[in-house]
Amino acid sequence: MLDCIFCKIVKKEIPAAIIYEDDTCLVMLDIKPVNKGHCLVLTKEHYENIFEIPEDRLRKLISVVQKTAKAVKQTCDGVTITQNNGRASGQVVNHIHFHVIPRYSTDGHKYSWKTTFYTDEKDLKNYVISLSKRMSSIR
Ligand code: AMP
Ligand code: ZN
Repeated sequence: MLDCIFCKIVKKEIPAAIIYEDDTCLVMLDIKPVNKGHCLVLTKEHYENIFEIPEDRLRKLISVVQKTAKAVKQTCDGVTITQNNGRASGQVVNHIHFHVIPRYSTDGHKYSWKTTFYTDEKDLKNYVISLSKRMSSIR
C-alpha cells in the first residue's frame, strides 16, 4: 500500500532496525519501545488487521511471533505479546503487526485496564449464548 509506513519499511524505502526477515514476514525494533528490545512482527504483504489477513498468512506470522518471543525471552523475565485491531483498540499503524515486548520483574509496567463485571448470572449467560452463537456462524 502506497502510503503505509510499514510497507515502505518492507520495500526498504525508509530505514528501520530490522532484525529478521523471511519470504513473508519482517521483524524490527519498535521506534518507541516500552522496554529496549521491543519488537514488531509484521507481514510483508499489506493486510490491515486480524480480520483481513488470510489464515495461512496468519499462521506464518504467529510462527515468527513465537520465534521472536523465544529470542527475546533469552534476556528477560517474561514476554508480553499484543496486537491491536482498529482505532478503538489503539491501532495506529494500519498494517497488521504483533508487539513482542521484553518484560522484567522490576520494570514497573502495569496494564491500566479498568475492569468491569457481569451484573448477574443472567447477564453472564447472555454473553455466553450470544458469543457461542456468533462463534459457530464463523467459517
Ligand atoms: P499500534 O498502536 O499497535 O498500531 O502500534 C504501532 C507501533 O509502531 C507503535 O508502537 C510505534 O512506536 C511503532 N512505529 C511507528 N512507526 C515506526 C517506525 N518507522 N519504525 C518502527 N516502529 C514504528
Ligand atoms: Zn502496509
